[in-house]
Amino acid sequence: MIRVAEALEIVRRACTAGPIERVPLSEALGRVAAGDVASDVDWPPFDTSAMDGYAVRVAEALRGALRERAGLVAAGDPPPPALASGEAVRVMTGAPLPAGTGAVVPVEVARRDAGTVRAEQAPAPGEHIRRRGESVRAGAILVPIGRRLAASDISLAALAGADPIPCHARPRVAVAVTGSELVPADQAPGPGQLRDSNGPMLAALVRARGGAPEVRRAVADTPEAVARLFEEAGGDADLLVTSGGVSAGDLDLLPAGAERAGFEMLFHGVAMRPGKPVAFARRGRALWLGLPGNPVSSAVCFQLFGAMALDALSGLPDPGPRFVEARLACAVSVRGRRETFRDAVLSAEGGALRVRPLETLGSHDLAAHGLANAAIRIPADTERLAEGALVECLALRPLP
Ligand code: AMP
Ligand code: MG
Repeated sequence: MIRVAEALEIVRRACTAGPIERVPLSEALGRVAAGDVASDVDWPPFDTSAMDGYAVRVAEALRGALRERAGLVAAGDPPPPALASGEAVRVMTGAPLPAGTGAVVPVEVARRDAGTVRAEQAPAPGEHIRRRGESVRAGAILVPIGRRLAASDISLAALAGADPIPCHARPRVAVAVTGSELVPADQAPGPGQLRDSNGPMLAALVRARGGAPEVRRAVADTPEAVARLFEEAGGDADLLVTSGGVSAGDLDLLPAGAERAGFEMLFHGVAMRPGKPVAFARRGRALWLGLPGNPVSSAVCFQLFGAMALDALSGLPDPGPRFVEARLACAVSVRGRRETFRDAVLSAEGGALRVRPLETLGSHDLAAHGLANAAIRIPADTERLAEGALVECLALRPLP
């Protein structure tokens, strides 16, 4: 059986970035930039006021009252005529400044009297002026290639006029659960049945990782249904993600079904707990990630291998799950020799990250898993970890 790190590497190599599309900024959140975005403008685009106040020459304002020019300059007005000598010009925040402005005296410290203005606080040179290009020079790269776009990147792309923005296509992911016991979440289970929780969870995880999920009908544990699943795979999806049917039981039909349908098994079985039977295979451009059916195994395997696949298909240059280091809040004894991912709560205490393992009944314990925001990664062949030990944690939710 291969190790988690090897399996992640196999997934990374098999998944290549999707085609480049021009995406409206309003739909670009979570996409990966397919090129550098350079600004075609300076920012700020002109010398502008940071306050409502008066544009003045500093030496003149220090000497005494200034003559107030009639009217005011608002944001959006064209640049006003240059300051005449002894003059103050009323300017609003964001307004272009008259040439010759040495500082802006805020209205709060300006005393107006019969057409004159006096600064009650001495202005410092450059005070409350935002100079053209002081934040961004035209030509500067504001969004680098390979960046997964967050809101701040989208604002920079807008500043640079990159709307639409070239991005890699969202990975299209078909999600299919398998198991004759499953009924959809909006139905009442009959005797021996249970609600499908993996399908909705996997669709949500795909979406959260920047993919476009398409949920298929549940697949029964019959060779015919499994054969149909794999025949159709790859038609309109970059990746097929399934749950269930990959372990060693009589009705775990997926690995054999995939091979019969022409898939090449890249791995089946990873030395980890939970999630040992996880499978990954390829047929031409079609990829299949077979997750175990136990809900916690499904979740953890997706957060590792699904995350790697989606990141790489999205075009991220450094794809894969992210780990953070934290100190154990208590000692942990480990069962078995496999690399283990233990549901846990990560929190920031006194400026340091601490992680506390959760009591869990096993890979079916969705209630315990629901309390976790991270999984502690316990290396293979570890028997015990002491309180305070530094451990790697896989983030399962946005972290504190
Ligand atoms: P399997 O990997 O198919 O042997 O499934 C292992 C366990 O996970 C069984 O107890 C299943 O009933 C359960 N299971 C499988 N698929 C799902 C699902 N979609 N939602 C919730 N539980 C599931
Ligand atoms: Mg099953």
